[in-house]
Amino acid sequence: MESFDVVVVGAGLAGLQLTRLLARGGARVLLADRKNSLEDSVHTTGIFVRRTLEDFDLPRDCLGPAVRRVRLYSPARRAQELESEHEEFRVGRMGRLYARMLEECIDARAVWSPATRYAGSEFKGDDSGDTEVLLERAGVTRRVKARFVVGADGARSRVARDLGLDENREWIVGVEDVLRGVATASEPCFHCFLDPRLAPGYLAWVVCDGEETHVGVGGYADRFDPARALEEFRAEMSRTFDFTRARRVERRGGRIPVGGVLKRIACGRGLLVGDAAGAVSPLTAGGLDPCMRLSGLAAEVIADYLKTGDAAALARYSGARFRARFVSRLWMRRTLSSVNSSLLVEAGCAVMRRAPFRNLARHVFFGRGSFPDVATHRRAAWLGLLSRAGRSGFNSRPGTNV
Ligand SMILES: Cc1cc2nc3c(=O)[nH]c(=O)nc-3n(C[C@H](O)[C@H](O)[C@H](O)COP(=O)(O)OP(=O)(O)OC[C@H]3O[C@@H](n4cnc5c(N)ncnc54)[C@H](O)[C@@H]3O)c2cc1C
Repeated sequence: MESFDVVVVGAGLAGLQLTRLLARGGARVLLADRKNSLEDSVHTTGIFVRRTLEDFDLPRDCLGPAVRRVRLYSPARRAQELESEHEEFRVGRMGRLYARMLEECIDARAVWSPATRYAGSEFKGDDSGDTEVLLERAGVTRRVKARFVVGADGARSRVARDLGLDENREWIVGVEDVLRGVATASEPCFHCFLDPRLAPGYLAWVVCDGEETHVGVGGYADRFDPARALEEFRAEMSRTFDFTRARRVERRGGRIPVGGVLKRIACGRGLLVGDAAGAVSPLTAGGLDPCMRLSGLAAEVIADYLKTGDAAALARYSGARFRARFVSRLWMRRTLSSVNSSLLVEAGCAVMRRAPFRNLARHVFFGRGSFPDVATHRRAAWLGLLSRAGRSGFNSRPGTNV
């Protein structure tokens, strides 16, 4: 039976980032995803915020042009214009970005297993402490041994359940069309529509960066029909934007966990990253920045744990630690989710257009309060240590098969 230090289930942004860091540090990693090609079924709009763009070296050719402007519309379509002096957002060309990150994982000697569904895991309970992971590919099930298993398998994580960790319970759903060929004379802009009828508890959006236009709606699934709301929203937007030559290149959609980062996201057999860990801003529903940051911390913690076998290493990876930082955003999420009346939202928008509340909207869109920054200085030291130690850094525990 093949044996790995770490089996990572799911090659979205979180799984790719973690695999890349672990493999570069010398761990023997298997990365498995049920998709055959990572360019298929992308589900995110892919808006990266300034903080991520500044802190992580994302390849420029995988990002669209910079967006500095936001227009926030009330249900009656009264607009509030927000402009930043900074390049606030860029829309990722996500298929290309995933493919690039995967190349880097493979270059770092991670083993890639596409079209492979995680089907369960069994803890052997013997001295090795290994877990047997069941993977299905083309109707054939194989077993591999893992010292550690990572659930990077999205909002409805099967790995979370199998490891007995916390699972997401609250989410919104989003659906969008990606269009090319939309004629726009104006600068790149992120148009956000607060409208509880079209997008109950969240937003409808049009992001035009001059190359791609994403038109979408999101909200609580039990309060609207996302496909119908999108159709209606597109029809309305076709009166504002010139869609005559537009062609839809993709339809994207999926669940977004908004209950805040889960409390119990690690145990001796494995841990969770990204959406599986609930690491999404409950207010903005942005999950890409948390993917990058939490996977960085996860890589540190896993490396420590595999080298020392000391459970104290895992204690640092506690969702409870981060939840405190999300209190105000969770509170704002509760408020948003409970407001069903367009009149109330209209009144709220009118207040937001007045000083001193104008700054609140700027803070939500342009603030740098994304996922808590998790020990980047330690990570740098850790990566330096690993590159000096080479691959052997992971061989310290007897009985491993690296
Ligand atoms: C419509 C929409 C728009 C969004 N827009 C933005 C945005 O603009 N900006 C932002 O910051 N956030 C956005 N988000 C949130 C963000 O996309 C997510 O938080 C982020 O992509 C999560 O990445 P992940 O790697 O954790 O999970 P995912 O990207 O969901 O990756 C999980 C992977 O696991 C694989 N997988 C699942 N189950 C199995 C299994 N059993 N076996 C093998 N593989 C499996 C899947 O195939 C998938 O590749 C959006 C979300 C949605 C739904």
